[in-house]
Amino acid sequence: MTRKIPVAILAATGAVGQRFVQQLADHPWFEITAVTGSPRTVGRPYGAGVNWLLEGDPPAKIAAMIVQPTEPNLDAPVLFSALPSDEARELEPRFAAAGYAVLTNASPYRMDPYVPLLIPEVNPEHSALIPHQQAAYGWKGFIVANANCSTTSIVLPMQILHVAYGLETAVVVTLQAISGAGYPGVASLDIFDNVIPHIGGEDGKLESEPRKLCGVYADGAIQMADFVVSAQANRVPVLDGHLGSVSVKLKQRATAAEAIALFQNWRPPEICRDLPSMPRPALIYRPEPDRPQPRLDRDAGNGLAWTVGKVRACPVNDLRFLAITHNTLRGAASGSVLNAELLVAQGYLGEGR
Ligand code: NAP
Repeated sequence: MTRKIPVAILAATGAVGQRFVQQLADHPWFEITAVTGSPRTVGRPYGAGVNWLLEGDPPAKIAAMIVQPTEPNLDAPVLFSALPSDEARELEPRFAAAGYAVLTNASPYRMDPYVPLLIPEVNPEHSALIPHQQAAYGWKGFIVANANCSTTSIVLPMQILHVAYGLETAVVVTLQAISGAGYPGVASLDIFDNVIPHIGGEDGKLESEPRKLCGVYADGAIQMADFVVSAQANRVPVLDGHLGSVSVKLKQRATAAEAIALFQNWRPPEICRDLPSMPRPALIYRPEPDRPQPRLDRDAGNGLAWTVGKVRACPVNDLRFLAITHNTLRGAASGSVLNAELLVAQGYLGEGR
């Protein structure tokens, strides 16, 4: 690539927006040229408006940028969106209609039949929906969505088992970090010394999104995977990192040793192996009986790797395992950046587009 692709970050001041700033500040292919915010921060320098939650200070060049309104006159063809749901529902189609490529972390369009719900290691071929989306909606640009952050934590090992043995059912219980609720998020008096067994809409996302992610692309449509998921999401007093406990019933029997070997020998699809942000390895199997743990495993692979452990026979179903990913990195900003890198590699983004 001869020139970096200009990109803008929508809602750059929030928990996910800050991760975008952090991850894109020195990216080899992308260059931040604009940041947007709500009326609270529009017109102020980013550094003055943001309540920076990460180590150190915001990168100086971005800190000096004036926060812009979220309107389709931004000087960048690619938008990384960290907009809240309601704003995303209204604004993202307007940007796509105006010719922008929108990589969103919000939920409203994830299950749209024409929007790729994309994780490069899971379903890179689903990006083939893009021209069908443009034809169906009359858009010059497009929307590509990230999965929900807790879905992300469990779906790669689920997909690997699904491809090898066929998933019939999965029972999922998640332990999700506080940062998943954004800033300021959950009140400290609610979450310390506590577990909250309700995250609005999350059980439904955990039950539907894996079926689309593990679905098969053919002729401009995704045929959803035919397994059934039962999910219970919980908020726990952990800062970052969503942990999922999964028990699966398989169509074809497999032992824990076979599943472990499958995870250890798995390699990402060819198309994503050389992407700049690709973690190597992308899936880490931990044999210790007390792993994975959020504090020890969420930052693996620069916050982009899955860590899987406790792969055992299940006395109720066939197999069970634990999996973790970092919710604001793999489950949000870094996952979106990796999606954009994939779209460059596939020719959907880049020079001449
Ligand atoms: P957050 O910390 O509450 O931040 C929300 C941001 O949206 C704020 O910075 C706010 O800007 C901005 N905003 C509100 N209205 C806006 C508008 N009209 N135009 C531009 N910006 C506007 O939330 P978050 O955790 O970053 O989540 C952002 C999105 O990512 C949500 O859709 C969420 O569901 C999704 N997501 C979050 C996670 C996670 O782990 N947190 C993971 C996956 C997906 P000001 O600061 O300027 O007021």
